[in-house]
Amino acid sequence: MIYLDGAATSRVLPCVKDAILDALDANYGNSSSLHSSGVSASQKIEEVRQKVADYIGATPEEIIFTSGATESNNTVMHIFEGKSIYISPYEHPSVAESAKFYSKNLSFLNPKENIASLNIPPDSLVSHQLSSNETGHLFDISSLTSSLKSLSSRTYFHTDATGAIGKTPVNVADLGVDYLTFSAHKLGGPLGIGVLYVKNSAPFTSLLFGGHQENNRRAGTLATPLILGLGAAIDYAVRKNTISAYETSVRPLKDFLASEIKRLIPHSIINSEIAKNKSLSSILNVSFPGAEGESVELALDLEKNIIVGTGSACASGEPSPTLLALSGGDPELSHSSIRFSLDLSTKKEDIVEIMQILPSIVKKYRAISTVKEPNVK
Ligand code: PMP
Repeated sequence: MIYLDGAATSRVLPCVKDAILDALDANYGNSSSLHSSGVSASQKIEEVRQKVADYIGATPEEIIFTSGATESNNTVMHIFEGKSIYISPYEHPSVAESAKFYSKNLSFLNPKENIASLNIPPDSLVSHQLSSNETGHLFDISSLTSSLKSLSSRTYFHTDATGAIGKTPVNVADLGVDYLTFSAHKLGGPLGIGVLYVKNSAPFTSLLFGGHQENNRRAGTLATPLILGLGAAIDYAVRKNTISAYETSVRPLKDFLASEIKRLIPHSIINSEIAKNKSLSSILNVSFPGAEGESVELALDLEKNIIVGTGSACASGEPSPTLLALSGGDPELSHSSIRFSLDLSTKKEDIVEIMQILPSIVKKYRAISTVKEPNVK
């Protein structure tokens, strides 16, 4: 199998699997219990909290463990219930839909408009993801936060760093954010565990009640094995310096894939930025107008067991908001898009193998498509 769908979920790292199995064997006590089994689990959890805090430049008391970025994002939006919330047009549904549910006024940021020119009232929230989960675009969050904070210290900023963590620097002070969220399973950790960073001075209201865990901020018995799995994934990211490894070994493969697609598949449109400071090295999103993305995805899998994605897995079936925003509303770009997400295990031979089959698959589906004229740009 060639697995190029790490942006949907990454393979669990062997060290993470070991840490989870160890925890299931040795740290099964309830971490809230007073007995030695509970205390031992709690100590291990606190070590991970410190690691996560160090990794993103926070303090341990600013870290809350959740069930994933979806819960973390919902919690942030819930804090601003009844207030004004401003979001980018690119947000993952776990931000966009919860913002819609909780806010009094939901507004969409216009990427071309200076945030400082908006009349954002105090006690509002602005949420803008750090990188697009669909195209890998990197956004300049520190510029946004400095413009915003120059207007009012009581306007708060959240960034969803789920796609970016482990692949590009994520430091809460450099970014200037009040809230930051991510899931462990995008950096080789297990599914079902996430992080919510809440700056000490930022407002907070719990989403889940019914226990005193996490300093009364998130009720529920802590998932020790998953948290220790997250800790192992963070250890790995630090030990291997994955941020620089992505640049040195994955970026050239993304560039190679993009140039091979342009060379061998006519009318293909590269939706991702290629420039280093504007994009993640791991995501290449391409549209093949006239060839439906889902058909291409399934054919790659059936014919060669090559696994890719179409936009965001969570939004499957819906035209992608990011691609719609990027293409000025052309739904064909979204319908025909494929997201290749590369990781540190991707090899040049994998790209060569993909390019042996992709041109003929695209040609075949274009031939039977009802979209007769590819929207060539
Ligand atoms: N935000 C982004 C940018 C994502 O890509 C995802 C997962 N696809 C989420 C949030 C939600 O993460 P989870 O499903 O782990 O809760």
